[in-house]
Amino acid sequence: MSKTALITGITGQDGAYLADVLLRNGLVVHGTSRDKENANLSGLKSLGIIDQVTLHSTSLGEFHSVVSTVRAVAPRYIYNLAAQSSVGLSFDQPVGTINSIMHGTINVMEAIRFLGLEARFYNASSSECFGNTGDLPADESTQFRPRSPYAVGKAAAFWAVANYREAYGLFACSGLLFNHESPLRPMRYVTQKIVRGAADIAEGKSDTLELGPLDLSRDWGWAPEYVLAMERMLTLDEPTDFVIATGETHKLEEFVAGCFRRLGLDWRNHVRTNDAFRRPTDISFSRANPAKAQRLLGWQATISMAGVIDRLVEAELRRRGFKAP
Ligand code: NAP
Repeated sequence: MSKTALITGITGQDGAYLADVLLRNGLVVHGTSRDKENANLSGLKSLGIIDQVTLHSTSLGEFHSVVSTVRAVAPRYIYNLAAQSSVGLSFDQPVGTINSIMHGTINVMEAIRFLGLEARFYNASSSECFGNTGDLPADESTQFRPRSPYAVGKAAAFWAVANYREAYGLFACSGLLFNHESPLRPMRYVTQKIVRGAADIAEGKSDTLELGPLDLSRDWGWAPEYVLAMERMLTLDEPTDFVIATGETHKLEEFVAGCFRRLGLDWRNHVRTNDAFRRPTDISFSRANPAKAQRLLGWQATISMAGVIDRLVEAELRRRGFKAP
């Protein structure tokens, strides 16, 4: 079997970092985009790997399109990362979001089954499946209580993956990843909105930043570390699911304060909250127990929220042509 990997959604944050890791491991890397001619290739370009990956225009919602790509690549490893991945947008586009997650996941697994391929399958699931965890940290046996269309789609896909593993013997793992950030995140995500907003204020381009409620708590990690866990999952003897997180929970207000402080600013002088940004239903508290990943994958996050902030602010300053203070 060739050492070939196929990453759906390779143009996204995780797809680019994962491609980089797999290339360094000596794999031949292919990836899908809905339309490779019009795809945003900035992540792959910024990592300097655009010429080392082969892109395929593939519609994950269409079985024929998925089978054609999977047949042509004949991968040993498939990482299914493509999805409408914004929780906020999922409230405006619930049908499209759930379809993109659910149909995409099932079509890839069906293609493996239809072609009789000995491929190992990774599915990008999400901590959003858990909903509010309360103080009890979520692990792989915690009940799902999804609170957004995005999370409903991810929860359905998670159970489809578990069923294909049990019913058809597919080597399939889901990663229940908590939030992970990097400079490759687009502006739509609150962490980038905060970092870029604070940098604008530090540069004197604006004076205020409007955000939604700041009392939400999350577990934030560093994306380049999280893709290492994905890679390790498909090297196990037996497939299983994993919570991937730092194990530390922080309020969004702490994240905001940290970014502004890093730029020599006091956030209280610049940030206004606006209830218009409040989602119809949201997760107020999210706590993780990533012990299984440490035990079975030997994976542990080494960069927690403060380190994430440092790296994001430094990258943003570099992007603007400044040196980090
Ligand atoms: P991302 O940057 O949004 O990348 C996902 C890719 O999927 C996009 O580059 C896009 O590629 C493709 N895509 C977008 N909308 C789509 C649709 N409607 N149908 C099919 N493909 C679509 O996401 P990411 O941050 O790398 O995350 C990777 C995966 O992990 C996603 O499934 C996400 O939901 C999940 N996840 C992420 C986090 C996180 O904190 N980042 C946490 C938990 C789970 P093209 O435009 O080239 O087609």
